[in-house]
Amino acid sequence: MTVLDLTGQRFGWLTVRERRGSQPGGGHNALWLCICACGAEHTVATDSLQAGNTQSCGCKFRRRVASMRGRSRRFGDHLDAADAREDATS
Ligand SMILES: [Zn+2]
Repeated sequence: MTVLDLTGQRFGWLTVRERRGSQPGGGHNALWLCICACGAEHTVATDSLQAGNTQSCGCKFRRRVASMRGRSRRFGDHLDAADAREDATS
């Protein structure tokens, strides 16, 4: 069977860096290590990328929620900084 190679492709804010094995129990559904536009790493399955379900590490959704609440742009930048700290400690 053909193994799809998504390396280097972009899906929304995510750029695929490398393959990260397959989903447990779903051999055809590969997992991909993606780098979000905010700099965070995020592992996503092929299905989610191709369906457009996952287009960021989650920051895009959080930012949209923040803007719906009438938060300032500065609040979104603060979220990114918090994410960076989480990545450094995990
Ligand atoms: Zn992100």
